[in-house]
Amino acid sequence: MKKINSNKTPIYRDSGFYLSTTENTLKTFKSEAEHPHEPENYIYSRYRNPTVVAAEQSISKIEGSKWALLAQSGMAAIDIALSIFQEENDKRPWMFFTEIYGGTNSYIDLVLKKRRGINVERFAPNGDSYDINEFIAAIEQTKPKLIYFEAISNPMLIVADVKAIISEAKKRNIVVIVDNTFATPYLWKPINDGADLVIHSATKYLSGHGNISAGVICGNQIGLMKSAIEYRKWVGHMISPDDAYRLNSQVQTFELRYKQQMESAFKLAQFLENSMNIEKVIYPGLAAHPTHEIARDLFEGKGYGAIITFQLAGATDDAKRSNSEKFITTISEHFDLIPTLGDTETIFMPIDAVWGDKYPFPGTLRLSIGIESYEHINEVIADALNKIIN
Ligand code: PLP
Repeated sequence: MKKINSNKTPIYRDSGFYLSTTENTLKTFKSEAEHPHEPENYIYSRYRNPTVVAAEQSISKIEGSKWALLAQSGMAAIDIALSIFQEENDKRPWMFFTEIYGGTNSYIDLVLKKRRGINVERFAPNGDSYDINEFIAAIEQTKPKLIYFEAISNPMLIVADVKAIISEAKKRNIVVIVDNTFATPYLWKPINDGADLVIHSATKYLSGHGNISAGVICGNQIGLMKSAIEYRKWVGHMISPDDAYRLNSQVQTFELRYKQQMESAFKLAQFLENSMNIEKVIYPGLAAHPTHEIARDLFEGKGYGAIITFQLAGATDDAKRSNSEKFITTISEHFDLIPTLGDTETIFMPIDAVWGDKYPFPGTLRLSIGIESYEHINEVIADALNKIIN
């Protein structure tokens, strides 16, 4: 067949690739031992796939990193990023900030600690923010091999003083891994500030349409890339070429979507802050947010993310719960209760139903702002708030 004049990398669904001769097979397997990102000859799609490599090149451009590797979920990306640092006789602890995605916390407890026997340390915020002096004391005392945190935490949206944290970690040769799913490379590129690896749940803003499960690991160090390629290959955390193809298309609009989502989130947070029916609004763009100044400096005024966490007002805990149920009933005519975030549609999740006692704030919701017009989002929310008093 003649070559087609397309400028897109097609979906190569081959499980294994055509190697034609023994000599070529020998040569290809020999060079595979070097784990190149884009091999001259592909071997097997679990190892590397051209459609996946094309999507990875798009993401590394957005992230400003030398390389990016896709995995079939954000959790798979986290597993790769952490597991490549596990060594048989190295008992140094791994330090995790406590305010991270609940699934990551479960993976730490149930996989890393319980099954693999990793020595895990936790670092908790002091009230509503992380204290850099407490962090220094904690790493001095526990001497971790690596630290892991989220730039904007889920769901309480704490923005860590990441530049200071990375600088203190690097002074002590500690590996830094950042989950940057909420802030995205649009707001902050951790590698430029010295992080070793950045991971994203690409299920969220990077793909952005609630129709792909994917994760990505980005970095600059070629040694880490080779380890990650090797680990992904043997554990089988590879994304499918179909998902990679769709991700590669959808990521082209990532910045447009995210900017629009953040702009609406900022306006809505201000609107909610002034509503009598709201007890508390958590959004890093508000001056009242405990880590607002850190967020302003770190994100250089580009925005504050597109998630708002807020609690409905009520004289008692039961009243807050009941008001939030009324609110949910009204907004559900327009926005859906879906346990994810970063979609083009505005979606929400009740915090206590998902996190239970970790955040004991009855009637609290996490709203993920979509790309609908701000007027529409505001109308739906204002109407639902009005119906609580009526
Ligand atoms: N990191 C964060 C901040 C998340 O919110 C999530 C999922 O919600 C993940 C990682 C895990 O990603 P995935 O669901 O794509 O495995």
